[in-house]
Amino acid sequence: MSNKPTAQSPLRVLVADDEAAVREAYRQVFGETDLRADLDAIQDLRARLFRNAAAGGKPPFRRPSFDAMICGNAAEVVGAVAAALVAGNPYPVVFLDMRMPPGEDGAWAATRIREIDPDCEIVICTAYSDVDPANIGGQVPPQEKISFLQKPFHPHEVRQMAVALHSKWRAERHIARLAYFDSLTGLPNREHTMARLGTVLQQAREGAHAAALLYIDLDNFKRINDTLGHSAGDELLKQCAARLREALDSLGDCGPQRPGAGDLGRLGGDEFVAMLPQIANREAAAAAADSIILALQQPVRLGHHEIVVTPSVGIAVSPEDGTDGATLLHNSDLAMYFSKRRGHGAWAFYDATMSDGALRRLTLEGKLRGALERQEFSLHYQPQFELASGTLSGLEALLRWTHPELGQVPVLEFIEIAEDTGLIIPIGEWVLRSACAQARLWRDQGLPFGHISVNVSGTQFLQRDFPELVARVLHESGLEAKWIELEITETVVMRDEAWAEKALAGLRAVGVSLAIDDFGIGYSSLGRLRHLAVDRLKVDRSFVSNLESEVRDRSIASAIIKMSRTLGIGVVAEGVETFNQMLYLQEQECESAQGYLFSRPLPLADAEVLLRRVAANADLSRTEKLRRLAVESTTEATKG
Ligand code: C2E
Ligand code: MG
Ligand code: MG
Repeated sequence: MSNKPTAQSPLRVLVADDEAAVREAYRQVFGETDLRADLDAIQDLRARLFRNAAAGGKPPFRRPSFDAMICGNAAEVVGAVAAALVAGNPYPVVFLDMRMPPGEDGAWAATRIREIDPDCEIVICTAYSDVDPANIGGQVPPQEKISFLQKPFHPHEVRQMAVALHSKWRAERHIARLAYFDSLTGLPNREHTMARLGTVLQQAREGAHAAALLYIDLDNFKRINDTLGHSAGDELLKQCAARLREALDSLGDCGPQRPGAGDLGRLGGDEFVAMLPQIANREAAAAAADSIILALQQPVRLGHHEIVVTPSVGIAVSPEDGTDGATLLHNSDLAMYFSKRRGHGAWAFYDATMSDGALRRLTLEGKLRGALERQEFSLHYQPQFELASGTLSGLEALLRWTHPELGQVPVLEFIEIAEDTGLIIPIGEWVLRSACAQARLWRDQGLPFGHISVNVSGTQFLQRDFPELVARVLHESGLEAKWIELEITETVVMRDEAWAEKALAGLRAVGVSLAIDDFGIGYSSLGRLRHLAVDRLKVDRSFVSNLESEVRDRSIASAIIKMSRTLGIGVVAEGVETFNQMLYLQEQECESAQGYLFSRPLPLADAEVLLRRVAANADLSRTEKLRRLAVESTTEATKG
């Protein structure tokens, strides 16, 4: 909408003087150059027609031409400044006569103009040497945007001043653009947008009306960047910015106060915001989101390609969803994410259930689908040792998920989601298959790993055909069942004891050994274990970590150890981190232990190094084996 000045366009100046003779003088000063410009143009044309320039002639010097508006009083000039600003074509320079009786004087006009247009360069012209420039400068700050001219002036002086102030004004605008606007799209940048949002919200508070913030994010923008290249991506962003401008301009009844060009912003990447400074109701914000989605999803031409992009929009309304810029931005961002997760090209209002936690869960759920296909899972192995002999008794396979953007996601966080969504079935099968394949490989290489323990989730365990699956996987890997132990948590077993008894018997028939994981926290009576076909109990880490401080935990741990010995069931203490814990467990004749004291869960390559080391240490004494393990694992930890 704004008329952009070019290097050739006339320099716009505004003048106010009450004396007709002075106005005429200004007219000549600024008009004379028009005449000169015409002459220059004729000369230029002649030179080009007769190819003088090509023969080495200098390019003709272009004198600046002016577009001057000349007013007779202070009120008129202030009105002209305001009108020009509204039209998007502000006056860079204003010359004001100091005394303009009987109306207001130049100082008054300067003050008003400064209020309307803070960027305008003001020149005060005075015939009286008694006016102290410092006084006016103080009244109409900033000092550096007000100049003085003594009458009578030389025409050349006025012209030069206009030219110089013009270029100062342009340079300052350019610097401001660089600091506040995004150079690709020309939209206000993040900083400027946040400042504007602050103003919008403050006005909404003062006026006790509602305002809305729309957070707009292009769906699959990354794919376009990756497939068509970054310059196509840039072009797309430019076109999107232009469409956003149009969409905002053409918003119908979105509220009593129409949003303007300054109410759009680019936060970075493919993220934009639109502010609606005053909305009548929430429906108005939704309608605006509809218009924006419609505008953006029209096909875009990028070179030879015609593509369709859809945006996802999140809406937060002030005051309900936040009264400060940061909160409103955060909430509209959350709403956008929720909307995007539900499907592309749609909007959603923020609501209080959209917490960061809920968003994280939704994000993880989305990314967990397909993680198997993208081969993002791996297994780490944590060794278990016999406390009496110091030999390695087994390795527990622990699942790891590394997502390219999220990094390593904690297993407990995603296992729960995998259970809720049923994804645990294929994931669990993958774990079992991978563990069996690894065991087969190590067995063939003659590496002494004892057994591999595989964690089984409740959902898997409840599948009627789980024992058959285990048998099939073993068969396909060509592995004997004795190399595999399955860990089922105590709470899962206790949930339906009758069923568990049957299921455990079924698994036992397949030939794998069975362990009850996290034992002790489910408060199951040890007596009931007699009916269950289990080989081992894993004493939960919580008891082990309190062995030194809590008498109660110490007695529970030693009771579990004693009882299981009576029942002929093995015991593994989980989470052993200190020497004292190990010594206590040895005293109680706990069979095996697992924990950071000996080793953290190890990636495959490190697990193999450990297995080779164990094979090499096979002949050492028990104490020496355990000592070496502990020392080596501490060095590993400090190295890592
Ligand atoms: P868990 O089966 O009880 O595994 C032991 C957890 O304790 C592991 O955590 C291990 O890294 C951690 N740990 C071992 N020693 C120490 C120690 O000395 N100190 C401390 N603070 N922690 C120790 P991780 O790998 O994060 O696994 C957590 C849980 O996730 C596992 O508990 C298991 O319930 C589950 N999980 C892991 N992999 C799988 C899997 O493949 N399938 C299923 N269904 N669940 C799995
Ligand atoms: Mg386990
Ligand atoms: Mg455990």
